[in-house]
Amino acid sequence: MSRSCDAVVIGAGVIGSSVAFELAKTGRNVIVVDKAAGPGQGSTSASSAVIRFNYSTFDAVALAWESFQGWLNWPQHVGALESETLIQVHNIGVAMIEVPVINMPRTSELFEQAGISYEVLDSEGLQKLIPGIDTGRYWPPKRIDDEAFWDESSETIRAMYTTDGGYINDPKLAAENLASAAEREGVQFVFRSQVVQIVRENNRVAGVVLDTGETIEAPVVVNVAGPWSSHINELAGVGEDFTITLRPMRQEVHHATAPASLINPPIIGDLDTGVYIRPETGHTLLIGGTEPECDPYQWVDNPDVANMNRTQELFEAQVTRAARRLPDLQVPSSASGVVGIYDVSSDWSPIYDKTSLDGFYLAAGSSGNQFKNAPGAGRIMAHLINEVEAGVNHDVEPVHYVGPYTGLRINLGTFSRKRAENENSTGTVMG
Ligand SMILES: Cc1cc2nc3c(=O)[nH]c(=O)nc-3n(C[C@H](O)[C@H](O)[C@H](O)COP(=O)(O)OP(=O)(O)OC[C@H]3O[C@@H](n4cnc5c(N)ncnc54)[C@H](O)[C@@H]3O)c2cc1C
Repeated sequence: MSRSCDAVVIGAGVIGSSVAFELAKTGRNVIVVDKAAGPGQGSTSASSAVIRFNYSTFDAVALAWESFQGWLNWPQHVGALESETLIQVHNIGVAMIEVPVINMPRTSELFEQAGISYEVLDSEGLQKLIPGIDTGRYWPPKRIDDEAFWDESSETIRAMYTTDGGYINDPKLAAENLASAAEREGVQFVFRSQVVQIVRENNRVAGVVLDTGETIEAPVVVNVAGPWSSHINELAGVGEDFTITLRPMRQEVHHATAPASLINPPIIGDLDTGVYIRPETGHTLLIGGTEPECDPYQWVDNPDVANMNRTQELFEAQVTRAARRLPDLQVPSSASGVVGIYDVSSDWSPIYDKTSLDGFYLAAGSSGNQFKNAPGAGRIMAHLINEVEAGVNHDVEPVHYVGPYTGLRINLGTFSRKRAENENSTGTVMG
């Protein structure tokens, strides 16, 4: 059995669905293939869906700011039907605590360049914004069984605070909204079907073969397979010219009841203790990790066989770290939370690029920080694909994209597979 189309997108996560939607809007006939039963059931479903703008390059800041406008204008962005259930944007602000690996003067400059308003809050300002916060400086993060974990601090922290930013209430629904939008543009979704082969003819991609035996012929194939992206690259025989490597990493995000003292907090990015803290409905908190050096990284060879059960040890570590910052937070005796897999790139920045195989494109390496960029990622990929297919040599003369919401000009060469590693990266999920 075989059919054909203009472009196959592998993966119906939040980014894959956005890529398919935007490609279809430019007139391409698109088929999305996903081995799961519906949209957003890969790493998207475990996402904390935090929206913030602190990144270490102008183009990454600009992409996040442009994408944020897409979230704010969501019904228009997806052309929603009146009857549709849509995601909600919780625009509650973000406080990013200053640590040595975050260059605050540089981030301030990038924010000013992009037109993002911010304030620098000292200890007093933070106490006003986040009732009950302990503003001691504890860097570097420590293991909770290290006696130094409980050492008093003689210094205080500062933070960069934006009133904009926050989170999306339901990451899977975001992918579903984008998939419905894509369907309205004529995109077909093929679920419960795994891509097992990438068809090549000379040095051009020619389609994909599914485990059902079906072949879908297409001159363009986009790998948006999240933590499975390296496997798809292997099937396509690409990767040799990459300077950036990709590797899946296991992550846990935990739930705890918020302390009564904590009223209307913003997102707290706290690399100083090694966690990020996000409010959740019902006066609870989501607490995720920021790769503190004292904890071993949980690399995964095959995402399909990773342990998807949360562990008591990591739960206690992350919630206790959050309790160092929010001393009224109680650490529950039994663990609750979710497990997800990041597709980590060697500099914690994504790859949005072509490859050495003509027609084969890559939106991968989202490194635990690209949910927020899904609205813009779809658009930059569609623009890149259309420019490269029209003959532009992106490897030599990088394609630029001007965001329609912000007017910001984004150099897509920043997201190249062949870039020099971003030396300003925090080396963590913050990118
Ligand atoms: C625990 C966790 C917390 C996160 N928190 C945040 C956050 O707060 N803010 C933020 O911006 N980002 C966050 N992220 C990152 C963000 O969620 C991801 O960057 C984003 O969801 C990736 O979307 P995607 O569409 O690229 O990939 P995915 O959602 O992983 O989708 C890939 C799809 O490809 C399919 N697939 C794979 N192989 C095949 C194959 N061979 N054939 C067919 N289909 C295939 C899979 O079934 C899957 O549905 C977090 C991620 C995790 C795991």
